[in-house]
Amino acid sequence: MRKIAIYGKGGIGKSTTVSNMSAAMAAMGYVVMQIGCDPKADSTRNLTGGNSIPTVLDTLRIKGDASLEDIVVKSSTGVYCVESGGPIPGVGCAGRGIITAFEKMKELNAYEIYNPDIVIYDVLGDVVCGGFAMPIRGGYADDVCIVTSGEMMSLYAASNIANAVKCFGKRGYASLKGLILNAKNIEDENNLVNKAAAELGTKVVYRIPRDPVVQQAEAQGKTVVEAFSDSQMASHYKRLAKLLLEVEA
Ligand code: ATP
Ligand code: MG
Repeated sequence: MRKIAIYGKGGIGKSTTVSNMSAAMAAMGYVVMQIGCDPKADSTRNLTGGNSIPTVLDTLRIKGDASLEDIVVKSSTGVYCVESGGPIPGVGCAGRGIITAFEKMKELNAYEIYNPDIVIYDVLGDVVCGGFAMPIRGGYADDVCIVTSGEMMSLYAASNIANAVKCFGKRGYASLKGLILNAKNIEDENNLVNKAAAELGTKVVYRIPRDPVVQQAEAQGKTVVEAFSDSQMASHYKRLAKLLLEVEA
């Protein structure tokens, strides 16, 4: 089982990138599980026809407990979708919520039962607390990639995340595989991100162009890989998926 965590600043394109990668890996014949670690719980939306799925935390709150059938939804593209969810807004701790969701998945033997070849964690924003760092600790992920554009704030977040990964890495946890440039087409973007990668002692593993086909697919509640499988953008996501699978675990 290969476990990849994708981090990045809020709104940078993590869920778009992750769900397209999941769909691409599933199309390649792999059993894929995508776990959204974000209280917004919209990581897997484009895999499930634009619909929300029950979150682990909501299910626990409403039913008092959760079974795998409650919280794991298989998408039409074959991806097992899970959303950790979050606390009631203004009450409780989002990071603690992720920990609770992870513990529940483990307790239910989700990884043994679905036996995924690849688990991809889509993790909101900066590593702000122990909960959001959970995927890079305790054996949950092997590899970490950070989605960024050339914009200063997303590079700043990338730097914080990279430093957190390095800090945990010393203890034998997940390692940073590199940055994924999700282009915003700002001036000199490639150079800015290359430079940031060099400063962080890592590399740019892939450059995803900006393309309105992403919104066209989104409007159908689908990934680009599913809705426009012959598009250039779908090829990019497929290449990125292949590349991440090739990166040595
Ligand atoms: P959050 O931190 O809020 O979860 P996110 O990092 O998961 O955000 P997404 O929801 O994937 O970000 O992307 C934000 C928006 O950017 C999406 O609505 C999508 O339409 C757009 N987007 C992402 N990547 C691209 C791209 N390569 N080309 C065009 N649009 C894109
Ligand atoms: Mg997201």
